[in-house]
Amino acid sequence: MQLKISNLSKTYSNGVKALNNISLTISTGMFGLLGPNGAGKSSLMRTIATLQEADEGAIFLSDLDVLKEKDAVRRILGYLPQEFGVYPKMSALDMLDHLAVMKGITSRGERREIIEGLLQQTNLYDVRKKKLGTYSGGMKQRFGIAQALIGDPKLIIVDEPTAGLDPTERNRFLNLLGSIGENVIVILSTHIVADVHEVCTRMAVIHKGEVLVEGAPQSAIDEINGKIWKQVIGKADLEAYQGAFHVVSSHLVAGKIEVRVFSESQPDANFSPVEADLEDVYFLKLNHSANGAGQ
Ligand code: ADP
Repeated sequence: MQLKISNLSKTYSNGVKALNNISLTISTGMFGLLGPNGAGKSSLMRTIATLQEADEGAIFLSDLDVLKEKDAVRRILGYLPQEFGVYPKMSALDMLDHLAVMKGITSRGERREIIEGLLQQTNLYDVRKKKLGTYSGGMKQRFGIAQALIGDPKLIIVDEPTAGLDPTERNRFLNLLGSIGENVIVILSTHIVADVHEVCTRMAVIHKGEVLVEGAPQSAIDEINGKIWKQVIGKADLEAYQGAFHVVSSHLVAGKIEVRVFSESQPDANFSPVEADLEDVYFLKLNHSANGAGQ
């Protein structure tokens, strides 16, 4: 199964071009859609989830025309939107039962079996009778995955699911995503590079509605490996370094600044080589795009 997005564009009525000729091919497995806030991730996710129209382009899921055959898509879609509201007074058990009925699972026995399985998988079985309003952020997101998995979807879309989770909850959530079967397409939209690094085998970086890079995270890293150098400098020197070198990123470390620089060879004797990582890829592509260089 493959999701093929071709030349998709969308301009909102306020003139914002949220999607600008996006083309992507997404196969089964975990696909990371990485980009800063405002990049167009939610617009793309909502369009794939049949919740909004595109101006131009096409989306096909195997033979299914996603932009036209919306009901058929919805039957095989699991969606966890960015703003996921729950009925605070309902228990997870009752809410899942209700949603399963809405998804057309009419047999009570079948529903019970499915829901118990999902509650186990998302580690919410022990709190299944508690009101959703009492759930922590991480529990709510895991519940969000449980509801998205009802009906055995073939295409699962999760939009910025780890934003606002503490590190333990985030880990737990990513492990859960990783446990979803390999024969479905899972699209994880996020602005957090580590999310993609930890769970995705394929990814795309989007910015200002355009695809900047697409492929396996490791291949993108391999392309720049050997060309990233670091040095710890004083805060006052940062501006000069930004003028003199191709600075990829700068981080505070114990009150000093660690700069990472892109260069084919050692920029000067004070720089030491470092392993490139996905964050280097991400910042390089974003900087390149911000400097008007396009792809
Ligand atoms: P992301 O999910 O990557 O943060 P979005 O798809 O939400 O990006 O937004 C892309 C751009 O489109 C942003 O500039 C945003 O302000 C704008 N935008 C999103 N939704 C709407 C809308 N309904 N009407 C007008 N502009 C919108």
